[in-house]
Amino acid sequence: KDILVQVDHLKKYFGVKGLKGPGVQAVEDVSLFIRRGETLGLVGESGCGKTTLGRTILQLHEPTSGRIVYDGQTIFEGKDPWQRKSVPVREKDGSTTKREELVQVKVPRPKQVNMLPYRRKMQIIFQDPSASLDPRMTVGEIIGEALDIHKLCASKAERTERIKELLGQVGLNTEHANRYPHEFSGGQQQRVGIARALAVKPEFIVCDEPISALDVSIQSQVVNMLEDMQQEMGLTYLFIAHDLSVVRHISNRIGVMYLGTMVELAESYELNRNPMHPYTKTLLSAVPVPDPEVSRSRQRIVLEGDIPSPMNPPTGCRFHTRCPYATEKCREAVPEFKEYAPDHWAACHLLG
Ligand code: SF4
Repeated sequence: KDILVQVDHLKKYFGVKGLKGPGVQAVEDVSLFIRRGETLGLVGESGCGKTTLGRTILQLHEPTSGRIVYDGQTIFEGKDPWQRKSVPVREKDGSTTKREELVQVKVPRPKQVNMLPYRRKMQIIFQDPSASLDPRMTVGEIIGEALDIHKLCASKAERTERIKELLGQVGLNTEHANRYPHEFSGGQQQRVGIARALAVKPEFIVCDEPISALDVSIQSQVVNMLEDMQQEMGLTYLFIAHDLSVVRHISNRIGVMYLGTMVELAESYELNRNPMHPYTKTLLSAVPVPDPEVSRSRQRIVLEGDIPSPMNPPTGCRFHTRCPYATEKCREAVPEFKEYAPDHWAACHLLG
């Protein structure tokens, strides 16, 4: 299958007012690709940068550096303005030592394209449907707005017809068009959010934890609907979740993130059967497995300590402060994200 989205060495830092340095290093040197028509699941603890990564790919956040290619077209390319350099630091006793720090350097302006045509092709479904729908607009107006921005309907009658069609596609009635978001349940609100995303006939949708705010009883309905729509419309998904048990059923491949970095990426079955990275093993050990053979070989691993701050991430491998196998090398050198088996990528010094 051909590649629809490709991301190379993507970084997204959020500057903090009044603070020297890069600020929050939310996405750090992430590379991935998403094949047309597939679902790439993205998992990791909250705050690991998965939502920021999804939004940065869509350029809802301006990337700091790296490259994003959509359907063969480079839509962002920028050099890294943050370089690791040895800088002199004055110690308390008055002596001067050297320390490695990220220092901002001048780089050419990044190459960016007009995103409007791509906005139509790349959509997002938000985590909290109640917060993402304007409470002052009716459902019909919310969906109609997306159609208007991209001038997709030639007449009022066509617009009304299309709104009806979209409501039907997500299992809502025509009468729902005149109601306001607060009149709906969480599941129905999420259906409205999905209808709004579908209105512009997208190819690629970032599903940003679309079911985590919903009642467990309706989570599977929404997931099934997203899967059916993918089949019917040939959609490509980046499906973000903090729970591995959700993404592993619907994803062709899964990427695992830790503190802004991609630590492992593999085909879903392969990742479940043969996890390589210590962090992935930890996540998998918390998921119940029906296969007794796999279950026996998998002990529950509990990580010590809290997830460090992305404002001051650990040096070397960002996981080293919590990894049971960390060595001196892990504290000093960043492990390369490499393909260790066909279509199975990981970043760990233990893998050689
Ligand atoms: Fe653990 Fe070192 Fe591998 Fe990082 S590189 S996951 S610290 S063993």
